[in-house]
Amino acid sequence: MSTFICDFCAEPNVLWQYPAQSFVAYVVDGVVGQSVGDWAACGVCHRLIEAGDRTGLLERSLGTLLEKNPNMLAAEADLRDELAAFHRMFFAHQTGAALQVV
Ligand SMILES: [Zn+2]
Repeated sequence: MSTFICDFCAEPNVLWQYPAQSFVAYVVDGVVGQSVGDWAACGVCHRLIEAGDRTGLLERSLGTLLEKNPNMLAAEADLRDELAAFHRMFFAHQTGAALQVV
């Protein structure tokens, strides 16, 4: 996915890159489709990932998604499930430790 925004929360301050295999994962039409290669992470998401705080990561992803797409609020519960599944797929396709972006 893009290396210019965090793939978890869409913030522009990408500091880390997670090596990962590409996979297809349609979460919400037009929002997340195919995941290609490495995943980018901002400092906050990296901390959550390294701490194993999947719930914190999920709530952060969901929060920023809903902030940018308030029309999706009605589907919040479904979105949470779908994002959780997407994160599980990412961790299943992760191929190595995080690399610092220079
Ligand atoms: Zn982030």
